[in-house]
Amino acid sequence: LPTVAIVGRPNVGKSTLFNRLVGKKLALVDDRPGVTRDRREGDATLIGLEFRVIDTAGFETDDPQTLPGRMRAQTEAAVIQADVALFLIDSRAGVTPLDEEIAQWLRNGDTPVIVLANKAEGRAGESGVIEAFALGFAEPVPFSAEHGEGLADLFDALLPHIEAATIEEDEDEFDEADPEAGPLKLAIVGRPNAGKSTLVNKFLNEERMITGPEAGITRDSISIDWEHKGRAVRLIDTAGLRRKAKVEDKLERLSAADTRHAIDFAEVVVLLLDATRGLEAQDLRIADQVLQEGRALIIALNKWDVADNPPALFQGVRTALDEGLAQVKGLPVLTVSAFTGRGLDQLIEAAFETRAAWSKRVTTGQLNRWFEKAVELNPPPAPGGKRIKLRYLTQARVRPPSFVLFGTRVDQLPESYRRYLVNGIRRDLGFGAVPVRLTLRAPKN
Ligand code: GDP
Repeated sequence: LPTVAIVGRPNVGKSTLFNRLVGKKLALVDDRPGVTRDRREGDATLIGLEFRVIDTAGFETDDPQTLPGRMRAQTEAAVIQADVALFLIDSRAGVTPLDEEIAQWLRNGDTPVIVLANKAEGRAGESGVIEAFALGFAEPVPFSAEHGEGLADLFDALLPHIEAATIEEDEDEFDEADPEAGPLKLAIVGRPNAGKSTLVNKFLNEERMITGPEAGITRDSISIDWEHKGRAVRLIDTAGLRRKAKVEDKLERLSAADTRHAIDFAEVVVLLLDATRGLEAQDLRIADQVLQEGRALIIALNKWDVADNPPALFQGVRTALDEGLAQVKGLPVLTVSAFTGRGLDQLIEAAFETRAAWSKRVTTGQLNRWFEKAVELNPPPAPGGKRIKLRYLTQARVRPPSFVLFGTRVDQLPESYRRYLVNGIRRDLGFGAVPVRLTLRAPKN
């Protein structure tokens, strides 16, 4: 869980805040002997936002050998470990020298700080809230731990920090290897007779093989390493490619297992179509499966050497793809001939480019500059008169690029609006036609 530390001089209301946040879960409070007075921890829920809260005991300026000095060391350690610090002041008392000292120490650290101007119920705290601006952090939040006032504002202030911490935790688990470092993992799928084995053989006869075939990820597959213009390519060769089965067998095979293996293995999947037959329903199903699994997809129209009325054919395939695969418009379509070798260089080039887009990360700043404009240009609707508030966007993952959108009432965001954002991300931020994922997150109520 993300961690929030409460810090402040004695008697500003830290324990009251702690009890309010931890609420009826008070039984879970960590009351180990000896620790009790220095540091209490508990699981907090604030309007559905969940985090671990640490109540630090003291911030005296005493010698570390003394009890107050040790308490200070504990406080400092808690703040350093926390994802965000709630710095409490007593707005009735105004900003005291000790508050200023704590503020200075906090400003020198890396932990983000939210100033809570406590005891601000009624009017007595107003001048203290204004004084708190001078501490040098973002706008202080007027608050009353005792009366439970200002909880919604505290929620607003905490949300970005809690969510950012949650995403960092997710990311740590994800191995983000340098996408350009390894060989391009490529798979070729398609209906029987599309020309998959002919294509693989063409590649292997013309290119420099690095190693011989190696046992692949499944019993039914092997992988082959070769080199294209100095760049390593690893091709999965599934049973369907290798086994020259009888024609009747081939027609029966739906190649579902091959497609499965190919998707598991590949970064980029090439769906090979037979230009003499055009795009059929089964091709769309395979394409859909590849995109659902978050793999980058390229369409190659094979047997172009014998294509009838090429312009009409190309246009027909393009239209059928855009209509049949609503989630991704503008997939790359290349024309090739496995027979003559036409277009094969371009196919590999396109696969490398697509992998780069699929592995691309944009910074949160770049993303949100784009996001603000996109929302301004086309504000989200207000179902039932209540506006959906979209706060910010962050890229949580790559391969495939995955984004998280934070806001309130996002569960009511229409699918058309989500698509508007996804298409914009693809078009404006250089993701091309790779599948882009967008998750909506709202605080649970
Ligand atoms: P697979 O089932 O997808 O592996 O398809 P194959 O590679 O076995 O090819 C099926 C048939 O199409 C074979 O007769 C190939 O010679 C033929 N073929 C494959 N690629 C081309 C091509 O680019 N042009 C032409 N004219 N025929 C091709």
